[in-house]
Amino acid sequence: MNGRSQMNIVIVGHVDHGKSTVIGRLLADTGTLPQGKLESVRESCRKNSKPFEYAFLLDALKDEQAQGITIDMARCFFKTEKRDYIIIDAPGHIEFLKNMITGASRAEAALLVIDAHEGIQENSKRHGHMVSMLGVKHVTVLVNKMDLAGYSEEVFEQLKKEYTAFLAQIKVTPVSFIPVSAREGDNIASLSDRMEWYKGATVLEQLDRFVSSKELQELPFRFPVQDIYKFTRSDDDRRIVAGSVAAGSVQVGDEVLFLPSGKHSVIQSVESFNTLPKTKASAGEATGFTLSTQIYIRPGELMVKPSEPQPEVGSRFRVNIFWVGRAPMIRQKEYKLKLGSARASVKLAEISNTLDASDLSYSRSKQQLDCRDVGECILETARPIAFDPASASETTGRFVIVDNFEICGGGIVLENLSAGETLL
Ligand code: GDP
Repeated sequence: MNGRSQMNIVIVGHVDHGKSTVIGRLLADTGTLPQGKLESVRESCRKNSKPFEYAFLLDALKDEQAQGITIDMARCFFKTEKRDYIIIDAPGHIEFLKNMITGASRAEAALLVIDAHEGIQENSKRHGHMVSMLGVKHVTVLVNKMDLAGYSEEVFEQLKKEYTAFLAQIKVTPVSFIPVSAREGDNIASLSDRMEWYKGATVLEQLDRFVSSKELQELPFRFPVQDIYKFTRSDDDRRIVAGSVAAGSVQVGDEVLFLPSGKHSVIQSVESFNTLPKTKASAGEATGFTLSTQIYIRPGELMVKPSEPQPEVGSRFRVNIFWVGRAPMIRQKEYKLKLGSARASVKLAEISNTLDASDLSYSRSKQQLDCRDVGECILETARPIAFDPASASETTGRFVIVDNFEICGGGIVLENLSAGETLL
């Protein structure tokens, strides 16, 4: 790493409410565009006698990409003094939702764009639902095109009131509302004197204020046990606990706890395959450990440190699932859940609400999850497993569901619903 932190942000909003213009402005006003790009796009507009649009900057970058030169279109990059940003324009909702729900890529913050002049549209609501399902931590609403609403505080406050009330129903609490004009550049990179009544942050300041999630290394130690090997030498009866460190780190002499069995031991050695002897292992490393006491543990347990915040142990949890199975996910049928190294039979107990990723239509009454549905559901496993809610540690809060040897869904655990689960 170059020492700079990075944050993924997603931008959503009804078509024509100004997403591309906001992105174009962010790229231009942070000086992130390739040299001469802004001038060449302005020049080409002049030549073709059409008014310049900030959104054209994205088209221009896209053309370059078509020639294999620069940039991945769904994702644009810009920098502030504080960090690097990747802004994900989410036109392909299906892929985006799938990646987000299964944890393949995560956006930590969302910008919801609403046109001050047109007001809240059906899509503004759907996007609210989408952000809610994804569990994005930081949400800021940009009330755009304030120039068309006479920069009126009243219009802004009215929209803010209506949209806050709607978002509250779906458990989204925006960090802030910012009145902007992306076209004129008001309150994007600098505060506008056309809205002196607004005392909050600019869009850039707001982005820099979002707190990033912790790096995997900084999280509590998590080691899903993949396998237990015995030493082959007959005079050595030690066992190696093998797997990959999902988060945090551990070193020789640390006390460790296995969940859900609840057994304790101490790390005696770090067994490094083909490398120099080591005394420590950290997130991302595939490794093995020997323990100072001979305890019987099984693959599927989660090794943690008792001195750090503990994971949850449970068999009933609230989750978000992205379903891709050809057959729908139905209640009472048995599926297999894989979370870390744990494997367990699982049943769908309840569906609270669903979002069809194809058109973002929302329902509270579906009885099954169809292909491309995102569902907030309750799952029940046949036996307790150890995990973290995805908000605490994503690597150990992510699961897949298998039916008939095929992966049919993926998701994240939101909350443990099993009170006082007894250890195995
Ligand atoms: P998207 O579909 O959400 O990406 O919307 P665009 O960024 O392409 O913008 C749609 C139209 O709205 C374009 O003609 C923009 O010039 C216009 N627009 C965007 N932002 C503003 C704004 O702040 N004020 C005004 N008056 N027009 C804007």
